Amino acid sequence: MTDPKLLLELGEDWQMLREPVRRICERFPGEYWRKLDETKEYPHAFVDALTEHEYLAALVPEEYGGAGLPLRAASVILETIHASGCNAAACHAQMYTMGTLLRHGSEAQKREYLPRIASGELRLQAFGVSEPTTGSDTTQLKTRAVRDGDSYVVDGQKIWTSRAAQSDLMLLLARTTPADQVAKRSEGLSTFLVDLRAARGRGLEIRPIDTMINHSTTAVFFDRLRIPAESLIGVEGQGFRYILDGMNAERILLGSEALGDARWFLRRAVDYANERVVFDAPIGRNQGIQFPLARAWAETEAADLMVRKAAALFDAGRPCGAEANTAKMLASEASWNAAETCFQTFGGFAFAREYDVERKWRETRLLRTAPISTNLILAYIGQHVLGLPRSY
Ligand SMILES: Cc1cc2nc3c(=O)[nH]c(=O)nc-3n(C[C@H](O)[C@H](O)[C@H](O)COP(=O)(O)OP(=O)(O)OC[C@H]3O[C@@H](n4cnc5c(N)ncnc54)[C@H](O)[C@@H]3O)c2cc1C
Repeated sequence: MTDPKLLLELGEDWQMLREPVRRICERFPGEYWRKLDETKEYPHAFVDALTEHEYLAALVPEEYGGAGLPLRAASVILETIHASGCNAAACHAQMYTMGTLLRHGSEAQKREYLPRIASGELRLQAFGVSEPTTGSDTTQLKTRAVRDGDSYVVDGQKIWTSRAAQSDLMLLLARTTPADQVAKRSEGLSTFLVDLRAARGRGLEIRPIDTMINHSTTAVFFDRLRIPAESLIGVEGQGFRYILDGMNAERILLGSEALGDARWFLRRAVDYANERVVFDAPIGRNQGIQFPLARAWAETEAADLMVRKAAALFDAGRPCGAEANTAKMLASEASWNAAETCFQTFGGFAFAREYDVERKWRETRLLRTAPISTNLILAYIGQHVLGLPRSY
């Protein structure tokens, strides 16, 4: 029997979100992003506008002051932002990082934090998982949190903790039981909600990393940082499982951003290919220009279907690890191919900053590497979907 919750809506679903989000984005044209890119500044005005219209609270349930929308709605918001030439990376984590707290936090934690996250009073958009020495091998991370009376004492280092400087709270994954004392390497890791306002200067230091894109990413250092024991989310030692739950949402949402980027590149490239006349004809008449654009469109449409499928499964409460990973991989590849095609279509003008092509091209490249790189997705599919031997 068909599960009604799993029917996919095609075309421009959630029009009631697409139109108003587009209108907000119109207030933040390329010039706004170019200036920030030059000075490596955070897009405060853009984030404030999204907060004011409650888009960042889309996934917080109504009982905690949010809009209580499904993941598909959040997907549409992020895709629209990126298709409009804007970049949601400055704030997208405010949408989904709270999912770990929502699914695994105590009622007291949820009542304390979620309404204020929904209103924008508190920002929870820093996610401290990656570490410099262990990389994709997440379960081997070295940051330790040791229970000491009513506190945990945290020591270690995180890298690529984006938006830590613009966050009030951070979701931290740390080892609470040494790796050699657990049966499975995914055990003994715990998640904490760290109050960055209380921690900065008292054992926590945030240092910006200079990157090729304006991403507000940082290295975070913990030196005997004491956090209250109530910062623990759920059961000690089960944190890796809680983080994985949230990663499916993250992959679907970032896949949606990639789709938005792909649509932006395609629109720009097609307009240019129709307008630019060389050898007395629009360049788009040449198959060398036209066919890569047609292929980029086809890849984008195919990735869109996988993003919708993954979101439908997530919203129906079904397992969606394979689909969420595949959606992120296909969408990031579609956006990268669209970016490259757009870049080539623009000829030398792609290098001129005023067209925004080079900025978006740099920005969309990230999605093939973070939040998980393509190889690790292929390894997941190989092992968990196809049943091939584990390579690591
Ligand atoms: C701008 C930016 C923002 C980020 N934001 C955050 C954030 O907010 N929070 C956070 O926790 N992390 C964040 N990350 C980290 C990101 O998730 C990692 O960079 C990514 O998962 C890859 O890990 P790594 O850089 O350590 O690469 P490594 O693990 O060192 O891998 C390097 C390369 O080797 C490949 N590789 C590794 N092992 C295997 C294998 N077994 N088989 C095949 N190939 C393999 C990888 O696919 C990759 O291509 C961010 C990264 C960047 C660049």
